[in-house]
Amino acid sequence: MHDRVSAEKLFDHTWVMTEGTGRGARHCYLLEGKEKAAVIDTGMGDMDVRRLAASCTNRELFAINTHGHLDHIGRDHEFSQVYLHPADEEVFREHSCYEMRSSYLIARFRRKGLDEEQIASAEIQDYIQRLSRLPRRENHVALQDAEKIDLGGRQLEIMHTPGHTGGSVCILDKKYGAVFTGDSLCEQGILLNFDHSASVETYRDSMRRLWEEAEGLACLFPGHQKIALEPDWIKDYLICTEKILSGKCADDFVDGSAGRHSGKSTLSEKVQKEKERLSCWGRAVIRWRADRLYREG
Ligand SMILES: [Zn+2]
Ligand SMILES: [Zn+2]
Repeated sequence: MHDRVSAEKLFDHTWVMTEGTGRGARHCYLLEGKEKAAVIDTGMGDMDVRRLAASCTNRELFAINTHGHLDHIGRDHEFSQVYLHPADEEVFREHSCYEMRSSYLIARFRRKGLDEEQIASAEIQDYIQRLSRLPRRENHVALQDAEKIDLGGRQLEIMHTPGHTGGSVCILDKKYGAVFTGDSLCEQGILLNFDHSASVETYRDSMRRLWEEAEGLACLFPGHQKIALEPDWIKDYLICTEKILSGKCADDFVDGSAGRHSGKSTLSEKVQKEKERLSCWGRAVIRWRADRLYREG
């Protein structure tokens, strides 16, 4: 069983490689310079992102993870160098482990309406095994805020944007006015409801910094859903967080799943869900936790 795989040219020396279909599809990006080429995120692991990238460029390839979640790191082991912010090392380890990945995939099949017999089929089991057993490889390079990565005539700038996870980063490509936002800004909402998410206040500060850069930007390229969003989406997310912090944003109690990265439900997850809120402002949708409004300390 294979998800649909495609690579599409976005603009000069830049491609999007999409794994899967629909709302849960994962976007990886390929950015080519004169000397090297960066692959931004490596998906859930179903797509041979390295081979796909190598079919577009003959430059030396390396990867950058926007964060450590399981749907962004699935083919990291195929690269000799993978940049990751150190604050997401623990998330990365947790999301690389077999139990976590397989329970997530099983939960996803159940949500799609498959029964236990279908999930036990050889085809589905093979798929789950393939995407859950990731080979280990010591290939991480620690990313720093404001770090510049030179691809040769094309410089990428890293902005640490904690929120969705503590080690989330956005990658600014000022030459083309593009920002690759991972799960820090997506069209259908962002999640701040994980144990390893940062506070709403911290995420507000991340969006404020990103908004300060918005003038020189043309497009945002998220890890999921619609791509090439206008930069003023950042403003909606910034205002939404300010409204949440000032108590002026209407919120709803959330009793659905704890988010698309969750596996099976436990009692502690149930308790967590009671603290979850969903707030919207403009085009922004944020799932957050009432016990995680402000930065610690
Ligand atoms: Zn994520
Ligand atoms: Zn994701």
